Amino acid sequence: MSTFQAPKGTYDLIPPRSAKFLAVREAISAPLKNSGYGYIETPGFENVELFARGVGESTDIVSKEMYAFETKGGTKLALRPEGTASVLRAALEANLHKAGNLPVKLWYSGSYYRYERPQAGRYRHFSQVGAEAIGAEDPALDAELIILADQAYRTLGLREFRILLNSLGDKECRPVYRDALQGFLRELDLDEDTRRRIEINPLRVLDDKRADVQKQLVGAPMLRDYLCDACKAYHEEVRELLTAAGVAFEDDEKLVRGLDYYTRTTFEFVHDGLGSQSAVGGGGRYDGLSEMIGGPELPSVGWALGVDRTVLALEAEGIELELPASTSVFAVPLGEEARRVLFGIVTELRREGIATDFAFGGRGLKGAMKSANRSGARYTIVAGERDLGEGVVQIKNMESGEQSAVALGLVVEELRSRLSS
Ligand code: AMP
Repeated sequence: MSTFQAPKGTYDLIPPRSAKFLAVREAISAPLKNSGYGYIETPGFENVELFARGVGESTDIVSKEMYAFETKGGTKLALRPEGTASVLRAALEANLHKAGNLPVKLWYSGSYYRYERPQAGRYRHFSQVGAEAIGAEDPALDAELIILADQAYRTLGLREFRILLNSLGDKECRPVYRDALQGFLRELDLDEDTRRRIEINPLRVLDDKRADVQKQLVGAPMLRDYLCDACKAYHEEVRELLTAAGVAFEDDEKLVRGLDYYTRTTFEFVHDGLGSQSAVGGGGRYDGLSEMIGGPELPSVGWALGVDRTVLALEAEGIELELPASTSVFAVPLGEEARRVLFGIVTELRREGIATDFAFGGRGLKGAMKSANRSGARYTIVAGERDLGEGVVQIKNMESGEQSAVALGLVVEELRSRLSS
């Protein structure tokens, strides 16, 4: 061990487990790539104001958990705590919304940072794959995103997840509800912090996990009873489209989520094998966000799925992904000359697209064969002085143990044909 360790709340992705992370990222992004979403990458940090305005000053994410700092030049930046505000900022900056091709559909994958109290499934550095569909108000778009996330989880083999669905109303009906809720909450016996929250973002008080708060919330006005006709019809259509697609969901009228920008559709994917950090992903519609960050009116919808928690969910369900072995051929040279010759063959095989590795470091046959075994290679090529004298190498089938001599000039072709059968 070195003098240093990974910072608190972070961990390193190390082979072989890291392969699962790559596979999860791939599985989540595959349905998006297949549905018209283009890849976008934005910086790991942004102007701090973007998140203050975009995510919401009153949210825990911005007020408590953001890694904000000032550069030597005096610019106030923050490591990105989430993806949506950055992606929308980038889309607006590149005028993607003006290309006459709405919605602009984008997907991304990357690292996010929140100064949270670390625990199982909650880290200070984590990764998400996300999708945003910018510039269209269409229930089919909300449904599309939920269906694609469901498809991603199912392809991975996950079964024990549930989809929670709610509507948060729009700028017509939400303020009326907000007033009613504030009136109700102000009468309760709550601590200072919560009382402040009532004034800034009363909906989030509904999300309070404490039992004594939940007890007092019985009888609180529910948003469902305040939704305007347009919001009701919109939500009903999202629900119908999901049902028609065979995607099961649960209506959860308490689902408000920890970010201020959501309107209408909100949803969360929860996994029942994860304990307290059960949300594997979430998202919703954010019709007002563009204007909040200085852009035009651009109703949009998106989600972010947590890669770390998806891997934990796979492990909780005992799912082993079928990951192809990363090496097909392993070369074991015995002696100096064999090293030069086999290294040449290895290079040739790699240029042919055959995954090949080599016993480096001039190790003996026993140690090198151990590495060959560990690599998962289907074939090992072994050559010593005598083989080279005869102009051959030995190709060993690692599964059957069978070994045969193949002429030097034919090795690449022989392996190609054996691997493709
Ligand atoms: P949110 O932006 O909070 O809705 O997060 C979306 C998803 O990102 C969550 O459902 C988690 O899977 C993941 N996530 C958020 N915060 C963390 C964290 N601190 N550690 C690990 N995963 C996280």
